[in-house]
Amino acid sequence: MTISWTIEGVREAVAAKKVSARELAGEFYKRIEARNAELNAFLTLSPERAYAQAERVDAMVAAGKPLPPLAGVPVAIKDVISTRGIRTTCGSKILEKYVPPYDATAVERLEKAGAVILGKTNCDEFAMGSSNENSAYGPVRNPEATDHVPGGSSGGSAAAVAAGLAVAALGTDTGGSIRQPGAFCGVPAMMGSYGRVSRYGLIAFASSLDRIGPFARNVKDVASVLQIISGRDPQDSTSTTAPVPDYRAETEKPVKGLRIGIPTEYFGAGMDEGVRKKVEAGIELFKKLGCKLLDIHMPHTDYAIATYYIIATAEASSNLARYDGVRYGLRVEGDSLLSMYRKTRGAGFGAEVKRRIMLGTYVLSAGYYDDYYLKGQKVRALIAQDFRDAFTKVDAIVTPTSPVPAFRLGERTNDPLQMYLADIYTVTGSLAGVPGISIPCGKVCGKLPVGLQIFGRPFGEARVLQLAHAFERAGGADL
Ligand code: GLN
Repeated sequence: MTISWTIEGVREAVAAKKVSARELAGEFYKRIEARNAELNAFLTLSPERAYAQAERVDAMVAAGKPLPPLAGVPVAIKDVISTRGIRTTCGSKILEKYVPPYDATAVERLEKAGAVILGKTNCDEFAMGSSNENSAYGPVRNPEATDHVPGGSSGGSAAAVAAGLAVAALGTDTGGSIRQPGAFCGVPAMMGSYGRVSRYGLIAFASSLDRIGPFARNVKDVASVLQIISGRDPQDSTSTTAPVPDYRAETEKPVKGLRIGIPTEYFGAGMDEGVRKKVEAGIELFKKLGCKLLDIHMPHTDYAIATYYIIATAEASSNLARYDGVRYGLRVEGDSLLSMYRKTRGAGFGAEVKRRIMLGTYVLSAGYYDDYYLKGQKVRALIAQDFRDAFTKVDAIVTPTSPVPAFRLGERTNDPLQMYLADIYTVTGSLAGVPGISIPCGKVCGKLPVGLQIFGRPFGEARVLQLAHAFERAGGADL
């Protein structure tokens, strides 16, 4: 069986009865069995649920019924997204035994569309990290180079798709956690606009930034999954009522004449030379495709990391207050209520999560709120304004996804600041709420994938996918 099953390939094979959905699920579980001990991409498998769903699909095939768009497609779900009856840990000890009583809307929609949920993928604890090394369940290895990190925080989802252990996967992106691991593992990965995909059932890290989005083996498949999970959900008041275009069809539109902005600020110091060359070659490819290139300025880019780490930690400190040993997950008894809280949170949370709770509590505290949190919100507005200004002149913005390719396991774990800087090109779009995709753009050192990022206007996902697809079709991945 081919490693590179695509959604279209699965649909055709299942519809033509070349393979049953059940056989296909079995084949993917075999692959997982063969590779997961090394990669550590999956934390929990859900064969009962997967086979039950596969049998429903096979019954539809047998009855000659029309098949839903993801019929029989094996998918993986990041472990911060709730799955009814399937353990959901957030990569944390504090939720080691937590089994959600309901499904996230994105999961429910995938299953309704015929997808087969294989299991839950490893991630940085509560999605805080850029390398997957903050998981309480051990790091994930990059399938392209196993002594390197897969990126984070959705490292397990990226690795699962890159290694052919799932046809598509859901991740979450708060400051880059879909796009950066997509870049490091060499698979297309997309974050829709804030509000495009319901957050219902996504266990919160930073609510004003968190977004669910897909990893897949090609841009068309990214479009297919995004299409299914997008759209208004009454359970999430921040989900938009804006209609969802036919993303898959939109990818076919010609890109000739589209204006692409290249922000000078995204090609500064600290960037790996190999990455720079590949991304420059990628930009040339857009020119060959008939796009117009324009140099633009996004003057507040320099403040994005600081702003992100103030806002994200502030929201995290508030969201994570719920893990108190009373309502959810782990409880370590103490001789008073306070000591129970202390012991529970002390044992349940890892170092990075504690660091962020402390930072976030500080920036929200009386006396510092105006200087940090409020200031952060103001700068966030300026960063969003940079994007609005740019989009009066261009149709899309192209940048590197990350300044560096996948680093070695352990290389940055002792230097949180160095780790935070890996997000320098992704957090801007997160703060601005715009959609962004990372697509493969060649490799450096013969093995480490480089990601090219495309930002679009709010709710302009179709344009982003259109450019990404044209780039992929023109051979961008092999530059
Ligand atoms: N790496 C960033 C962080 O650690 C982004 C994480 C994310 O997008 N979930 O916060």
